[in-house]
Amino acid sequence: AVPHGDAAKQTAPTRTPVLEMKGVEKTYQRGGWFGAKAVVRAVHNADFTLYKGETLGLVGESGSGKSTLARCVVRLVQPEKGEIIFAGKDLRPLSRNGWLPYRKRIQMVFQDPYASLNPRRKVGDAIAEGPITHGVPPAEARARAAELLRLVQLDPSALERYPHEFSGGQRQRIGLARALAMQPELLIADEPVSALDVSVQAQVLNLLADIRKRLGLTMLFITHDLRVAAQICDRIAVMQRGAIVELGTTAQVFGAPKHAYTRALLDSIP
Ligand code: ADP
Ligand code: MG
Repeated sequence: AVPHGDAAKQTAPTRTPVLEMKGVEKTYQRGGWFGAKAVVRAVHNADFTLYKGETLGLVGESGSGKSTLARCVVRLVQPEKGEIIFAGKDLRPLSRNGWLPYRKRIQMVFQDPYASLNPRRKVGDAIAEGPITHGVPPAEARARAAELLRLVQLDPSALERYPHEFSGGQRQRIGLARALAMQPELLIADEPVSALDVSVQAQVLNLLADIRKRLGLTMLFITHDLRVAAQICDRIAVMQRGAIVELGTTAQVFGAPKHAYTRALLDSIP
């Protein structure tokens, strides 16, 4: 049956491209001193378009190239080839300075929020830091931080506390608030719930699903877990050894998987 009403609307957000990946290739050289030299084709044949307001899942087992692809978008990795078109502009040829204005427009949250939280900085300061750096008056940035804490369902008292005082799930909410403080046009979440207990995973996913609807977020959501992807993604791209082997709506990928690898992933779900 064809989904109707809200469900159908959700799977067809808009047709305005936010991010287009075209022919991006990244290889790593491994070994050389003692072991045999090897070339790892971490990303190749991984084209996709991410539309405004949608959440696209990037799913595949560990080592399939998901993080490398995401890191190419935010310039933590420099691919050898391809176009990374964001808001109509190819980001890859930009100089460091040319890229700076885009930095705030694409935010990333990681599996371990400690990666981006300074343990000696109060949560309120950590959330306000980015906007202040980009010219938002400190008082306004702090007010925004308080609002964001409410959005991620944390007590406002968190503003004055330190990251270590929070649980893993709470820290992930803080990481999310910190990313959202920049009002990004694209949020990349790389395994944001993979380090959390299953019950906490569900809470954070529900929160993320709620926020993305409320803010109309555009999101690239990375996970090795198809079940997690199914809970939040409009469409799913399945990655295998650096390539996207299948891309479809969540319903298509689950209901009528085309690729053998996708079927194997589905079969591995208990
Ligand atoms: P995923 O996020 O899907 O687990 P990654 O993008 O981390 O996959 O890794 C893709 C491939 O690239 C793997 O074979 C991995 O070992 C390799 N790789 C990732 N980062 C590096 C690196 N900095 N140096 C060498 N090889 C790397
Ligand atoms: Mg990864």
